[in-house]
Amino acid sequence: MIGADATDKRPHIVIIGAGFAGLKAAKGLKGEKVKITILDRNNYHLFQPLLYQVATATIAPDTIVYPTRALLRGQKNVRFRQTEVIDIDVSKQRVITADGELSYQYLVIAPGSETNFFSLSALAEHSVGLKNIDQAIVIRNRVLALFELAARESDPAKRRGMLTFVVVGGGPAGVELAGALSELIHTVLVKDYPELNFVETRVVLLEAGQGLLPAMPEKLQRDAAAALRQKGVEVILRGAVADYDGEAVTLKNGEVLLCRTLLWAAGVRASKLIEKLGFGTAGQKRAPVASTLQVEGHPKIFIAGDAAHIEGKKGPLPMTAVVALQSGSHVARNIKHLLHGRKPEPFRFRDLGSMAMIGRHAAVGRLPGANIRGFIPWLLLLAVHLLKLTGIRNRLSLLGNWLWGYLCNDKPVRTMIRGCDSCWKEE
Ligand SMILES: Cc1cc2nc3c(=O)[nH]c(=O)nc-3n(C[C@H](O)[C@H](O)[C@H](O)COP(=O)(O)OP(=O)(O)OC[C@H]3O[C@@H](n4cnc5c(N)ncnc54)[C@H](O)[C@@H]3O)c2cc1C
Repeated sequence: MIGADATDKRPHIVIIGAGFAGLKAAKGLKGEKVKITILDRNNYHLFQPLLYQVATATIAPDTIVYPTRALLRGQKNVRFRQTEVIDIDVSKQRVITADGELSYQYLVIAPGSETNFFSLSALAEHSVGLKNIDQAIVIRNRVLALFELAARESDPAKRRGMLTFVVVGGGPAGVELAGALSELIHTVLVKDYPELNFVETRVVLLEAGQGLLPAMPEKLQRDAAAALRQKGVEVILRGAVADYDGEAVTLKNGEVLLCRTLLWAAGVRASKLIEKLGFGTAGQKRAPVASTLQVEGHPKIFIAGDAAHIEGKKGPLPMTAVVALQSGSHVARNIKHLLHGRKPEPFRFRDLGSMAMIGRHAAVGRLPGANIRGFIPWLLLLAVHLLKLTGIRNRLSLLGNWLWGYLCNDKPVRTMIRGCDSCWKEE
């Protein structure tokens, strides 16, 4: 049993995942007479909403990650372990990790989500998702590497394939990535590569449905598409992908686009760990939970964040940071209720709206009581990200990069430093 201390009689709470939900649950238990162990495969917390800015050379990767141990400093009842959680033995109340087992009195499962390729194996092999920091670095390096290759390629057809970037998925992640990529190409790389003819560059956003940002009102969906087109993105609606072989993407309507880069932002599903646990899976392979966020039949096990299928007033809650933070906080409250002999309370989600960045001076937002677009939501979204980002150093670094980029019309992080050799797909 790893880290077991027979003399410590405090209830042991194990939290799987140091993402938004897991950390919020740990912080919510600060000061309680419990022992908390938080487990994560990475030694850092990642701020996923700004991954697209790393992928498009706007900010440095270490701006949006923060060492988990540093985040937990000052909370005496918590310990962190970097390890991969493999399974849970519910009957023995044990978590099985790559480095041994841990017993728990209460368990919080918050392993988040991963890219969903919907069993399209060719897509999984040849495209890149945008769910972790390694993928963001891979995308940035790949875009820059392809511009280098194109600059020395004499065959125009091959060159066009290299300079065509297809983003699949018209949700917030796809919209933000396509907008930022187009800005990188048309405002910065255009100055770096005088030998290239930028008429040959394309950023294409494919969305299988009728409109972008399906969770937004129709008017904002149309505004988002118009703003992206103005920034040079070709928006193709009802453009479902059938296949991709690394050279050409084939749409279900038979259309073929030559492209060496396909960025997949078309779907997420709960972490594969959830399927393994046997609590059942609902939409996006999330585990269904009771209104108290407990697993039915297992009152000492809670699930929070992207991994939980939580019923809201208008259907299942989306996989967002806001839901993760609120559900993580609620799990901590309910564990405290149980520790003090009280009944757990049902979770009530407070919908604060949603926003999506399209590019410089352009964003759309659905706020309680108002739909907004243009400069104001752009500024608001920047402010929200700045305030929500973890760590003062990271905030200063983010602000510095943004100010430099804004004032100099630049995307300054254009160095091809490899972040993860195993993720790198060689040309
Ligand atoms: C590109 C992108 C943009 C986004 N933009 C927004 C936005 O603008 N607004 C918004 O509200 N939301 C946004 N989201 C969604 C938001 O980031 C997620 O909903 C949120 O991160 C979910 O939090 P979580 O705690 O459930 O999971 P995560 O934050 O993903 O944390 C899960 C943690 O569990 C760890 N883990 C997973 N499996 C294991 C295992 N087996 N063993 C050990 N550790 C494990 C992971 O390493 C990770 O640290 C965006 C997401 C992406 C990808």
